Amino acid sequence: MSSSVITPYSRKNPFPAHLLAQRRLTSEGSMKDTRHYEISIAGSGLNYEVGDSLGVFPQNDPVLVEEILQRLGFCGEESVADPSGERQSIRDALLRYYAITEPSKQLLSALAQQDRAAAPLAQLSAPEAYEHLEKYLWGREVIDPLLEYPHVYFTPEEFIKLLRKLQPRLYSIASSPRVYPQEIHLTVATVAYQSLGRQRFGVCSNFLAHRLTEEQSVSIFIHSAKHFRLPEDPTRSIIMVGPGTGIAPFRAFLQERKATGALGKQWLFFGEQHAKTDFLYREELETWHREGTLHRFDTAFSRDQEEKIYVQHRMLQQAQELYAWLEEGAYFYVCGDAAHMAKDVEHALVQVIERAGGHTEQQALEYVATMKKEKRYRKDVY
Ligand SMILES: Cc1cc2nc3c(=O)[nH]c(=O)nc-3n(C[C@H](O)[C@H](O)[C@H](O)COP(=O)(O)OP(=O)(O)OC[C@H]3O[C@@H](n4cnc5c(N)ncnc54)[C@H](O)[C@@H]3O)c2cc1C
Repeated sequence: MSSSVITPYSRKNPFPAHLLAQRRLTSEGSMKDTRHYEISIAGSGLNYEVGDSLGVFPQNDPVLVEEILQRLGFCGEESVADPSGERQSIRDALLRYYAITEPSKQLLSALAQQDRAAAPLAQLSAPEAYEHLEKYLWGREVIDPLLEYPHVYFTPEEFIKLLRKLQPRLYSIASSPRVYPQEIHLTVATVAYQSLGRQRFGVCSNFLAHRLTEEQSVSIFIHSAKHFRLPEDPTRSIIMVGPGTGIAPFRAFLQERKATGALGKQWLFFGEQHAKTDFLYREELETWHREGTLHRFDTAFSRDQEEKIYVQHRMLQQAQELYAWLEEGAYFYVCGDAAHMAKDVEHALVQVIERAGGHTEQQALEYVATMKKEKRYRKDVY
C-alpha cells in the first residue's frame, strides 16, 4: 500500500475514528471475552500495512472516576489543568487524560507524607525497592490506597499532579488494507479480574467493549511495525504461531497473501482453551484451509483433554515438516503473550531444529540466531 498520501494524523494528533461494528469471538461458557472490532478510517488519509498496530486512546471508567471524586470530596466541576495545560473540569480530566488505575510513586509518597500509617509507602519509591513496589502495585488501583488511608486529603490541583498521563494502548491490526482500505480490524481480549475483593476492568479493552458507541469517536493512530512485515519476496513461505489474540496480525497476513496471490505457502498454529467456545475466527480460518490459502493449519486447545496441549507441542509433533519448511527458507512469525508463550515457542523451535535436523543444541541455537540475523524470525509479543 502506498504511503505517499500525506495524512495530518499521528500519535500527537490522533484521528477521531468511528466504530463500525463489534462482535464477540468467544461464546457462552468461555472463560474469556475476546472481541472483533471494525473501525472506520474513511477520510483520514491514514495508510497501514499488515503487521502494524493501532494505537487507541481510551477513556476511563466513569464509575471509577465518580468513586475517586466522592472519596476526595470533589463535586467534579473543579477546574484543573490537563497534561497540555488546558483547563478542564476534574471529572473530564480524570475520564480522558490521567491514569486512574495504576498508582504513581508520587501518589504513594504524598500519601506517606500525610498519614503516618502510610509511611512505609515512601520506601517503595527507592530504586532498590523495585520488586516490593511491583508486588504492592499488582492488583491495586489509585482508589485502593485512597480508601486505605481515608484521612488523606488533596486539593483537585494537587491530586492531578500526582497522576500519570493516560497512555494509549496498542493492538495488532487484524485486517489487510488491500481488502479493507477504509477499515481497521482488531482482536481484543477484554481484561477483567478480581483483586483485593474488588472486580477490576482493564481500561482500554473495556472502553472498547462496553463504553464506545457507534456515535462517539475514538482517537487512534497507526503504530508502524517495520520489524513485523511479510517477507519482501512473496515466494517465501511463512509459518505463523499466534495463539489467543496473537491470531490478529496473521488474519491480516492471510488476507494480504490471498489478495496478492503470493506464491509462498502459509502454515498457522493457533491455540486457545476450548475449541467449542474459544476458536477465534473459526469459519474464516477453516475456509482458508479448505480453499488452500492456508496450506497447513494446526490447532492446540489446551483444556479439551486432561493433559495441557499448547502450540509448542503441535510444533514438536510436526518437527520434520517444520524443519523442511525452514530449510526451504520459510519465515517464522510469533505473536501474542510474551511472558510464557513466546519463550516456550522459541524453546520448541530449537528442539525442532535439533531433532529433525540432527543438530546439537548448540548448533540449533546458532541456527535460530542466524534466522534472527537474517530477519526470518519475526516476533510481535506483548
Ligand atoms: C505491540 C502490541 C500489540 C498488542 N496487540 C494486542 C491485540 O491484538 N489484542 C489484545 O487483546 N491485546 C494486545 N496488546 C495488549 C494491549 O495493548 C493492552 O495491554 C491490553 O488490551 C490491556 O489493556 P487494558 O487497558 O484493557 O488493561 P489495563 O488497564 O492496561 O490493565 C492491564 C493491567 O492490569 C493488571 N492485571 C491484569 N490481570 C491481572 C490480574 N489477574 N491480577 C492483577 N493485576 C492484573 C496488570 O498490571 C496489567 O498490566 C498488544 C500490546 C502491544 C504492545
